[in-house]
Amino acid sequence: MYDVVVVGSGAAGMMSAITAAKAQKRVLLLEKMPKIGMKLKATGGGKCNITNMLELDDFINSFGKQGRFMRDALSNFYHDDLLKFLSDIGLQTHAPDGFRVFPTTHNSKSVLDVLVAHMKKLDVDFKCNQNVQKINTDNAQIYNIYTQTDTYKSQNIIIATGGLGYSSLGSSGDGYKFAKSLGHSVSDLFAAMIPLQTEEVWVKNCRADTIAKATLKINLPKMQKIYKCGDLIFTKNGIRGPVVLDFAREVTPLLKKYKKVPLLVNFTKGMNEESSLSFLKEEAKNSSQNSILEILKKILPKSLCVELCNLSNIDFNLPYSKIDGAKKEKLIKLLAWTPLNIIGHDGFDKAMITRGGVSLKEIDPKTMQSKIVKGLYFCGEVVDLDGPCGGYNLQWSFSSGYLAGCLKN
Ligand SMILES: Cc1cc2nc3c(=O)[nH]c(=O)nc-3n(C[C@H](O)[C@H](O)[C@H](O)COP(=O)(O)OP(=O)(O)OC[C@H]3O[C@@H](n4cnc5c(N)ncnc54)[C@H](O)[C@@H]3O)c2cc1C
Repeated sequence: MYDVVVVGSGAAGMMSAITAAKAQKRVLLLEKMPKIGMKLKATGGGKCNITNMLELDDFINSFGKQGRFMRDALSNFYHDDLLKFLSDIGLQTHAPDGFRVFPTTHNSKSVLDVLVAHMKKLDVDFKCNQNVQKINTDNAQIYNIYTQTDTYKSQNIIIATGGLGYSSLGSSGDGYKFAKSLGHSVSDLFAAMIPLQTEEVWVKNCRADTIAKATLKINLPKMQKIYKCGDLIFTKNGIRGPVVLDFAREVTPLLKKYKKVPLLVNFTKGMNEESSLSFLKEEAKNSSQNSILEILKKILPKSLCVELCNLSNIDFNLPYSKIDGAKKEKLIKLLAWTPLNIIGHDGFDKAMITRGGVSLKEIDPKTMQSKIVKGLYFCGEVVDLDGPCGGYNLQWSFSSGYLAGCLKN
């Protein structure tokens, strides 16, 4: 009989196990993969962007209207607490850009190593290759946890099974199944932080070109206020890169509703129609013999210049003065906003985050305990919260894991 069984050895599960063990609880951590913390090890391209230095209110707002649920967990254990905790157990961290925090080793393994060493020190009993298949509870509020080989008993259970993305790293939605079987509801689930596929096939000609500071917005009524700016990379069938990963969580729920989501993209670092026109006129005046391609190459990669000329029906070898007025107008419009229609994404296996999860209405934000069943706790990505790129999601996993591990009733 354990005081608590934690299912899942991600950031949330390990943090909750450590917190409970520190309070002298008898803790068992079950992980279905052969190795512990496989997703944590893959984070930040192997460097692990642990958290960021944002003020609490701004951090909460970054998670959208659901974010206010996080206030208690974050107030109890925010970035200062996390970084002090990591330092106390032997991990040095830094923020090279003053915002995103990484281990000084720039190696996610060192984060995993200190957490595992600390669990060992605290006598957390952890077992890999234990795929939890069913959880039930009897009237005496004892949980039975069934894996493929064993049955465990515990007074409390913490579900820290992550989302649906990157199933090769372990999380494949089991937590939603457990939550439902114990009476909880789960909201619609969408792939987030994922490359997007476009209807426009011309993107493949710009494949691998990176556009710095591209701005994306959704071209649907009442949605144009949602926009993001950052680096964008073209792929053989769409777009990827930091700005796309961040924006995808706004787009994928709309894809389900509309099947096609129209975006407007500014590739010209915020130039509008007026400044695009001035730029072209100025360039044409200074070097009248230069082709439009030569001019556009000053602000965009060649492949994209060619495609924008094609879309405007312009022969890119012509000088600006020789281009027909209507075509010039079209080009200027495209320089301000190029339409791209999103028709799909690369699938959950490429999604770094899941949007949706166990309903927040049924979890007490002060404890992370179920409002439906006593002794059942949730933490990390399995709940209905998702943040942008930049250390937001790991901080949430650590903070909610800490609060769940306190086992407050
Ligand atoms: C490639 C990649 C890079 C990322 N980089 C960053 C980053 O740099 N910074 C950031 O903030 N976020 C990043 N994220 C997001 C972040 O990794 C997740 O939000 C976070 O890891 C979620 O933690 P978690 O503990 O809730 O779940 P997970 O880390 O997914 O852990 C869940 C664990 O539960 C186990 N499990 C699932 N079902 C069962 C079962 N039935 N029985 C037993 N065990 C089970 C899984 O095997 C897994 O080990 C990245 C995500 C990916 C995929």
